[in-house]
Amino acid sequence: MGVAWIDLHLHTRHSDGTFTPEQVASHANKAELTAISLTDHDTTEGCAAMAAATDRYGIEFVPGVELTAEMGGQEVHLLGYYINPENEVFLRETAKFQRARQERIIEMCKRLNAQGIPLRPEQVMELARCHSPGRPHVARAMVGLELCGSFDEAFARYLKKGRPAWAPKLKVSAAEAINLIHAAGGLAVMAHPGLTQMDPSIPGLVEAGLDGIECFHTKHTPALERQYKDTAHRHGLLVTGGSDCHGDSKGKPLIGTVLVAYAYLDAMRRRLHSDHPARIQNGKTVLVPSTQTQRG
Ligand code: AMP
Ligand code: ZN
Ligand code: FE
Ligand code: FE
Repeated sequence: MGVAWIDLHLHTRHSDGTFTPEQVASHANKAELTAISLTDHDTTEGCAAMAAATDRYGIEFVPGVELTAEMGGQEVHLLGYYINPENEVFLRETAKFQRARQERIIEMCKRLNAQGIPLRPEQVMELARCHSPGRPHVARAMVGLELCGSFDEAFARYLKKGRPAWAPKLKVSAAEAINLIHAAGGLAVMAHPGLTQMDPSIPGLVEAGLDGIECFHTKHTPALERQYKDTAHRHGLLVTGGSDCHGDSKGKPLIGTVLVAYAYLDAMRRRLHSDHPARIQNGKTVLVPSTQTQRG
């Protein structure tokens, strides 16, 4: 058997992706992936459907999430792997992030209106049809209603940080996000560090309990990949990776285009296992009450 490949960073319609979990699983099957994770923004709602869909193809599924947090006034994305998608504390906290995202759509529409763009929040929510809407939904609604020429233009002119329609999300510290992932039984991984220029925060994140760094990512060059693998080894952290596929990109999905060897998933499971033997049995995540999944 050749090397088995995995993709641990994927989005669906449950946040700002355009595929359903079933479509993602089907693409993962075509790409001949052995294991995938679903890492929607601030929600685990797609995990049950993804678990069922991957099961039909014999693909291993890792429940996941991507949380937005901040450190030193800058945004940092934290991936949570092997979280219990039904953990009560986790569901309660992510529900707060989702409500803040919905309110933020209203705020961004107000700001767009002030710029002479007549976009209404209902139009965005009608397109998003999920609890965890984000800026890509605003951009897609603008393009669909011909209020803007393209998705990229919507970000560049209005939605990027520093542009007139940008609005902040709920502020949760990186330490709180890491604790939340750990409380739900998961591993906390810093997402796409090459995009965020947050390298000086890495020691602080390690101090807060960070488990790994996403070294392989669509937007990481081979040089960045090597750099972050070195950083991970220096701090005794896991190495992870994924495409960050949000749907079709230039006509085809990114899923499976970032090659991550299955061995990295083995290392993740070993780390989880050594911390919490009860959480994993026969390679499957065991759903245990949140009180039993608190990490020290
Ligand atoms: P949000 O969670 O609402 O802040 O939106 C973040 C998402 O928007 C990211 O996950 C990307 O999918 C997308 N995004 C962020 N910045 C840009 C950009 N400059 N151009 C296109 N898409 C972007
Ligand atoms: Zn996204
Ligand atoms: Fe991200
Ligand atoms: Fe992402």
